[in-house]
Amino acid sequence: VPLAEAVGDLVLLDPLTEESLLQTLQERFRRSNIYTYIGNVVISVNPYRSLPIYTPETVQEYRNCNFFAVKPHIYAIADDAYRSLRDRDRDQCILITGESGAGKTEASKLVMSYVAAVCSKGEEVDKVKEQLLQSNPVLEAFGNAKTIRNDNSSRFGKYMDVEFDFKGEPLGGVISNYLLEKSRIVRHVKGERNFHIFYQLLAGGSAQLLQQLKLRQDCRHYGYLNRESSGLPGMDDAANFRAMQDAMKVIGFSPAEVTALLEVTAVVLKLGNVQLSSSYQASGMEASSIAEPQELQEICELIGLDPAVLERALCSRTVKARNEMVLTTLSVPQGYYGRDALAKNIYSRLFDWLVNRINTSIQVSPGKQRKVMGVLDIYGFEIFQDNGFEQFIINYCNEKLQQIFILMTLKEEQEEYVREGIQWTPVEFFDNSIICNLIENCGILAMLDEECLRPGVVNEDTFLTKLNQLFATHKHYESKETQNARRVMDATLPSQCFRIHHYAGKVTYNVTGFIEKNNDLLFRDLSQAMWASRHELLRSLFPEGDPQKVSLKLPPTAGFQFKASVATLMKNLYSKNPNYIRCIKPNETKTGMLFTPELVLAQIRYLGLMENVRVRRAGYAFRQLYDSFLQRYKMLSPRTWPHWTGSHREGTKVLLEDLAFPPEELAFGHTKIFIRSPRTLFDLERRRQE
Ligand code: ATP
Ligand code: MG
Repeated sequence: VPLAEAVGDLVLLDPLTEESLLQTLQERFRRSNIYTYIGNVVISVNPYRSLPIYTPETVQEYRNCNFFAVKPHIYAIADDAYRSLRDRDRDQCILITGESGAGKTEASKLVMSYVAAVCSKGEEVDKVKEQLLQSNPVLEAFGNAKTIRNDNSSRFGKYMDVEFDFKGEPLGGVISNYLLEKSRIVRHVKGERNFHIFYQLLAGGSAQLLQQLKLRQDCRHYGYLNRESSGLPGMDDAANFRAMQDAMKVIGFSPAEVTALLEVTAVVLKLGNVQLSSSYQASGMEASSIAEPQELQEICELIGLDPAVLERALCSRTVKARNEMVLTTLSVPQGYYGRDALAKNIYSRLFDWLVNRINTSIQVSPGKQRKVMGVLDIYGFEIFQDNGFEQFIINYCNEKLQQIFILMTLKEEQEEYVREGIQWTPVEFFDNSIICNLIENCGILAMLDEECLRPGVVNEDTFLTKLNQLFATHKHYESKETQNARRVMDATLPSQCFRIHHYAGKVTYNVTGFIEKNNDLLFRDLSQAMWASRHELLRSLFPEGDPQKVSLKLPPTAGFQFKASVATLMKNLYSKNPNYIRCIKPNETKTGMLFTPELVLAQIRYLGLMENVRVRRAGYAFRQLYDSFLQRYKMLSPRTWPHWTGSHREGTKVLLEDLAFPPEELAFGHTKIFIRSPRTLFDLERRRQE
């Protein structure tokens, strides 16, 4: 098949099979062509090595380029999106998906830096650009960590709207963050690390700063850092700390704000060293007490709080009994549970504060006319050995993104056909709303919330039982019980699990921990203690600790909040013109230029690339503006060669008439020629090469 061994646009793949798609990507990757299109979707395969393709010269090459005339590149899509925003007034969004380590964050930075490089210059504009770009090191310090899969893994989802004025000059932006992996604060597996900021602070903070924060320089001193030394080859924590501090300055943090931020960070780290020991009360009840008061003392000095208050909040709990508030003691495990919950809550709220604070600096004053380019860098689909609440939430988000992908691609196709005045024939595709509905609406998340709100003893068993009843016959739901009812023999599905058939594959979720994580409760005594501190920033993170404002209403659950923020995100994306970057991780070992076919194939499946190509070429596989088309092929007819003096559209007509293609192969839009099958285009290319 001509060209097929390495076509730059998979829409032209012929025949289209998983194998041919895989082989094309592999062959292109081997030639260091890490970017490949599906129409205007970019597939990016992580080279794990620095390629000389992001130079200022490359930027110039792609600036105002003709999408079809240059090699596939992330800059081409960035350029296309930016120009369409600037010249055609269409808000854009760039959706970047892929699994951990596939290159999403790098891709988002490439897009941002490209746009920053091509939009106009000037003192005011440069300041805005700098602020937008410098939000990265700050958010990465607090939101990224080394994991097994990626040394700089984003542990939160991020969406950033960059706003431009009518001339295409950046005005500012807004960042939204999603679901920080806060459990990492208190626990991480061997070989991973806690969030970068802790190591950066200890490695890069001056002796004076560390003393002021009452920290010791040695990571091994800290329980939350697993008492391990932290060195990470290729990552200079101290230098990154300085870069992060500079970035905060550029964004506009005052020295006092930076200090406050670092104080709260230090408090989180130090909380992990607060040790509890058990003692027995006169009643014979086990009670916990602070084992070694020094750390607690220092925390309280940092935040201006009476140590007795924090000690009481960590070791006991007020509960309501017969209309009376009584203080009950906590056992040691309960005490540690409360301590860890506090650390996680402080940190995740601090992260929210940080995002808000950055937004305060970069936000655009209301009322200004603006055009928007949104960039979404969010966790991809996750299928692990053990999948819990987090994977469930993340995969739900990906299910929604797939839904919007299909809707928007179809919408976009349809709109283009209408714009071009071409007959639209509906396309067959797999609609995943049935899976989205299984999770949202009256689905699993709602059942979980219901379970969490139910008074009395709640546990995951009753939750699972409910699901089994409700979805006994649902095509995308499975559990031991429904399997038994359906007489399916399957040893791979344990009894405390349910399985969802996602668009990207089947995932088995263990319900253990669902209720606790969804509830995400913090003992009220702890929030009240935080609110009682004289540390303004810390205090502001715990408004519910104000005893005047004690509300009996439970705070919204984690699932509920996530669902709401996903809904807002989808609405936002749907109002924009979509551009996709789908990132692929070619190997598990972060090795340069190594391509493991099985691994890539799995990603091709759960990125839905086959579906993508099918949808894209359901009508016409190929389309191009008349002028560029004529320019390329005019030599094929004596009537258009060497010069055609009429309109480009007429010229294209004449040219294609002479080549005698079947009429159903072609459609003439207002500005573009549409070609139905890849073969016709190959035919053209072949004749051109002859
Ligand atoms: P996560 O979901 O864990 O945040 P990610 O998809 O954001 O993962 P990145 O952090 O962007 O992944 O990329 C992981 C690493 O891969 C980078 O630190 C870098 O070393 C390498 N990498 C990614 N993209 C490129 C590229 N275009 N060129 C060279 N190296 C790259
Ligand atoms: Mg990332």
